[in-house]
Amino acid sequence: MHRMLIRNGHIVDPANRIDAIADLLICEGKINHIGDRIETEANSVIDATGLIVTPGLIDMHVHLREPGFEYKETIASGTRAAAVGGFTSVACMANTNPVADSPSVIEFIQSQAQKEGSANVFSLGSITQNLTGEALTDVPALLEAGAIGFSDDGKTVMNAELMRQVLALSAKLNFPVMVHCEEHNLNAGTVMNLGETSRKLNLPGSPNMAEDIIVARDIMLAEFTGGHLHILHVSTAGGVELIRWGKRRGVHVTGEAMPHHFALTEAAVEVHCTNAKMHPPLRTQADVDAVIEGLRDGTLDAIATDHAPHAPFEKARGMLEAPPGIIGLETCVPLVFDRLIHTGQLTLSEAVAKMTCVPANILRIDRGTLSIGSVADVTLIDPNKVAAVDVTQSASKSRNTPFNGLELRGWPVMTIRDGVVTQSTIEA
Ligand SMILES: [Zn+2]
Repeated sequence: MHRMLIRNGHIVDPANRIDAIADLLICEGKINHIGDRIETEANSVIDATGLIVTPGLIDMHVHLREPGFEYKETIASGTRAAAVGGFTSVACMANTNPVADSPSVIEFIQSQAQKEGSANVFSLGSITQNLTGEALTDVPALLEAGAIGFSDDGKTVMNAELMRQVLALSAKLNFPVMVHCEEHNLNAGTVMNLGETSRKLNLPGSPNMAEDIIVARDIMLAEFTGGHLHILHVSTAGGVELIRWGKRRGVHVTGEAMPHHFALTEAAVEVHCTNAKMHPPLRTQADVDAVIEGLRDGTLDAIATDHAPHAPFEKARGMLEAPPGIIGLETCVPLVFDRLIHTGQLTLSEAVAKMTCVPANILRIDRGTLSIGSVADVTLIDPNKVAAVDVTQSASKSRNTPFNGLELRGWPVMTIRDGVVTQSTIEA
């Protein structure tokens, strides 16, 4: 029997309301016991004094780029980056080539992940065929093939009737519909937020309402159908307020925030150029404050990264031509600790919940807790480790981040997936 004993860590398991110093025993890849002073033989003993021990982190929003864009990222490299960042599970978006709109693509991703993955990979199918927004995919067939949710992320389904249909299917078949909210016409040709910085740089900007209009529309459709709507990467104060309104009305709506949307404003575009270009864009300080308040009061349920690798030659094309998006798997934990936990915006338990049991519940996956008998996905974090982001050391194939060189406090130091260490910077 293989046993791993993690001694004297600060165990934070929000699903089980555990927030205490204790030992944790992993046996044969399962959580075996949590207790005050576990006396047992073990194959390996990890001294977690001063460290936080959480359920393996879950990033419910990443782009792994395989199949089709392996020069940006592969399932192997993207899940390596996940492991380095403390994540044991990721949900990957459907905008591959071919698009994850057929069972064969879902099956390919799942088999690649089995063979080469350093993290559990959960597949999202596309809402519409080839992401064109014109016709629904065969949702039941994709669920059968292993898809756990549906998203046209990167694009907004502009046809409200198609959105009504997929949300009606969600109500019937129980899966999340995860939506990227930007009205295409208001958003066309824009490369950043519409505001002070876009005027200064003379760049085409997208107004907050481009996002808010779709958030409002989809909440109404979720109310009408009873489906589960998940709003991806909320960036506006209006979006947060609309989700709050939807929840008050009893609509099944959840929302997520990204580190870049709580850590940066549109001003970052002046400094980081295309490494601060993403959709939805970085907004104003008022929006950042609203996103943080949304995380605080529970309006925004989860924290995810929108890890979106692009090759250097693509990001070198300038603001007008470069593709939107930044990598995020390796900088999420330190940004959450440095900007939300150490500043007192979120308690440790609140922040950990948003990266473990909450995304697990949204995705209906059997992860995100340290319950006895559950799969031993565990993350160890040193809350006081100070280090600067060094993108040259990234496990991702891409380098597009605005956070390079930034000194942050609170880093993942060990990732355990299925009882096996997938990444460690401490002695085991
Ligand atoms: Zn998106």
